[in-house]
Amino acid sequence: MEMIAERLEQILAHGALELRGDGRAGSGVVLTMQSIASTAIADPSLHVQEWPFFSSARKGAPTRGFLRLSRRPIEKASQVTHPHIAMMVDEGVSAFVDFAQGVPPGGIFVINTPLTPEAAAEKYRLTGRVYTIDGNTIAMQHLKQPLGNISLFALLCDILPGLSAEAGREHLEILLTKRRLPRPLIESNGNLFMASVGVARHADCVCGTTTDHHVSPFRGYGELAPGAQSRLRLSRTNLTSAYARTGFQLHFSDPDGLCNGCGHCIINCPENIISFRPDAATGVRVTGAEISRYCKLCNECIAVCPKKLFSEIPILHSQAV
Ligand code: SF4
Ligand code: SF4
Repeated sequence: MEMIAERLEQILAHGALELRGDGRAGSGVVLTMQSIASTAIADPSLHVQEWPFFSSARKGAPTRGFLRLSRRPIEKASQVTHPHIAMMVDEGVSAFVDFAQGVPPGGIFVINTPLTPEAAAEKYRLTGRVYTIDGNTIAMQHLKQPLGNISLFALLCDILPGLSAEAGREHLEILLTKRRLPRPLIESNGNLFMASVGVARHADCVCGTTTDHHVSPFRGYGELAPGAQSRLRLSRTNLTSAYARTGFQLHFSDPDGLCNGCGHCIINCPENIISFRPDAATGVRVTGAEISRYCKLCNECIAVCPKKLFSEIPILHSQAV
């Protein structure tokens, strides 16, 4: 632990110590980053920058948090692309993003998982110091919910310069009080935090190559014509833009009349843009979605349709929905 503390102090002495956390909406990645930030900022020698990054507005969608700690004013305002510490709050996010992307050789990986550090390094091809903690199981005992973020915060209080378990516990309570959580729940979170102190495992592992997690250089927008990106984002006729995955749009197809009128897509669409007509047999029959009206490709309709009638397709190959 001492060597890691020295290494992190050295990074701080020369610039900003950068962290990136990946999780899914509802897994607490934002709370973890905010907890670190508000604990660190109590140290007058530290400058702190913290901000979250969300994808589509649906439970389970990938979320990401960035954090910089420095002994000097932080001038960077970009995403953290080469974090010294990469954290995975919810292993489910590994289906969508590479939490270790861009971590320099010998980086630090912090994972909420029941796996040993060696097994996690093998699974995610990690080279560097790997910390694991089974936060979900500890949280089940205190909150009756598998939320590993508080355990990860306790772990980071142990390794980050300027932080300590006592300060972390205190600032967690302040944060949760600000969020107006009921008192018993704040206390359960505090107990969960303390139960997580000192139980993480760690190992120095060599399981990845230098190319496993490299950040791909920007290579343009594939088949999209030059300028199409700004059109996608700004066009008056395609207001889907702001949150949608670049270059894709929603597609609805029901050539065999499979829509059973269950209405799940209509109820779950946060933008209320699913179109339908009355049907004597099924009540309603869905005809598509008005994607020109703010479809943000949140994927709710894709996820809930039992007949799999919605999909995402590249925008150049799209047909009207
Ligand atoms: S149409 Fe589907 S993808 Fe678009 S906003 Fe509605 S639910 Fe989300
Ligand atoms: S969820 Fe699918 S089957 Fe149900 S109403 Fe919508 S399109 Fe039809």
